[in-house]
This record gives sequence, structure tokens and C-alpha cells, in this order.
Amino acid sequence: MSRVLSFSTDNEFAKQLEHLIHQSGYSNRSLFLRDASLHFAEAQRRGELVAMDDDVVLDGTIVIYYQHGVENKLMELRHSHEIEVISFHHNCLTDSHTCVDTMQVRGDAHSFRQAIDKLNNTQDIDKVNFIAAPMRDNGCC
Ligand SMILES: [Zn+2]
Repeated sequence: MSRVLSFSTDNEFAKQLEHLIHQSGYSNRSLFLRDASLHFAEAQRRGELVAMDDDVVLDGTIVIYYQHGVENKLMELRHSHEIEVISFHHNCLTDSHTCVDTMQVRGDAHSFRQAIDKLNNTQDIDKVNFIAAPMRDNGCC
């Protein structure tokens, strides 16, 4: 079931909004406004990982691009008691000449910051991304 909501704004912002929607690759204004609202509310509520309180617990995904030889360092992370690794996947990206590990993880903000700093300071780890799961008060799981 959907519901129509409306809001008023000045003409200049209305034009900017259409431009933002187009630039973002959205073809549906309602979906853009929904996603923008959810992202904004989450940023206001929790902020980015760097600014979160140490004890904030979150789910997320860590993506680590690296060259062979650092698997032991990644195994340390997978067996860490600070961060719970729920699932783990490895792929060899032959066009990029890079390995990538993707991990679904749960832990507190302090532990994630420490782990990511450690990974970023490890030789032959080329790129580390952490994507926090959107925080919902209720949902499918
Ligand atoms: Zn590989």
C-alpha cells in the first residue's frame, strides 16, 4: 500500500531537486526522496563510523581488496573476538589482478575503527570499505 505525501518549496529548490535526482541516477522522484530521507535520518541519528560512540553496535559489510600474501592477517580478523564475522566470501578478480574478501560483520564502532585502521596499515591490502547496514526500528529480519 502506498500513500501520497507532498511538501512545498521554492521554485529554485524544486529545480535543484530535479537536477539532484537526475544526477543521482534515479528515475523515480518518490524513491529518491524516500532514500534521501532514510539516509539523512540515519546520518543524523548515528553519524559516520568515525564519529559514532565507541559502544554503538552495528551490522555491516567489510570489503577488502588485497594481493596474495596477507591471508593470515585476514584470518586474524575472521577469528577476532572483537568483531563477529557472520559470513565470509573470497573472489579472485582477474581483470583487476586483485583478491577481494567480503565479510558480513557485527560489532561495536570502536572495534570496527580499530580493525579498519589495522587493515589500512597492512602492506598489500589495497583498499578497505565498510558499509554500515541501515538501522531500522522494524523490518523483515
Ligand atoms: Zn584470490
